[in-house]
Amino acid sequence: MTEPLLRLTGVSRTYDDGVPVYALRETDVTIASGDFVTITGQSGSGKSTFLNVLGLLDRPTTGSYRVCGAETVRAPERLRVAVRGQLFGFVFQAFHLLAGRSVVDNVELGMLYGPHPPRVRRAMAAAAVERIGLSPRAHADPRTLSGGERQRVAIARAIAARPRVLFCDEPTGNLDSANTDNVLGLLAELNADGLTVVVVTHETAVAERGDRRLRVCDGVVEEVTGCPV
Ligand code: ADP
Ligand code: MG
Repeated sequence: MTEPLLRLTGVSRTYDDGVPVYALRETDVTIASGDFVTITGQSGSGKSTFLNVLGLLDRPTTGSYRVCGAETVRAPERLRVAVRGQLFGFVFQAFHLLAGRSVVDNVELGMLYGPHPPRVRRAMAAAAVERIGLSPRAHADPRTLSGGERQRVAIARAIAARPRVLFCDEPTGNLDSANTDNVLGLLAELNADGLTVVVVTHETAVAERGDRRLRVCDGVVEEVTGCPV
């Protein structure tokens, strides 16, 4: 049997500021290459903690997390950073674009600390902007774009270095329904091209777009099978 792309086994994340908070409890989850996974749950249920652990932005308190078969929980930080940089891209609710810099510059800036020389970075940034359908606005200031277009630029920045997995935390939280559809359509297209997509959302309509749906309740992750969120 080949190793799945991502495999969490018995993973917990506890915050301890005097009173312990069990943000993620004894989690066993496998994500395969090509999955489109959505994660729902109420505010404070542990969604962001779960996503941050999956994205190697946060380290579990206990358990095992294998990425392409390699154990990461007790690995040195530099290895976790390398895996994250090579395999993962991130999109958040806030677009985090620099005003006064063009769309393509914003996308390129995401690769500033990566391995690619400037000329290659520029070509990869232009390709990512084309991929999200914003080439005609490549030299526009993000302030002149709609919310949906800004989030597509943030997605271009996240995919420019060609990650295997795109992690999105409430990517449509700042968007109206038309822009939400637009962004979800792009995520579905990228997934159809082979990108593994993991989306945290508190919106049922967004959750329903996943091929696989997970729900977090008080730090416990469960697979949703058929029933409404
Ligand atoms: P969600 O994204 O579903 O709203 P979070 O993963 O952000 O939930 O939080 C899960 C739980 O962990 C909450 O009770 C939250 O208060 C707690 N928590 C999150 N981050 C921290 C932190 N840095 N320190 C202490 N507690 C935290
Ligand atoms: Mg959250």
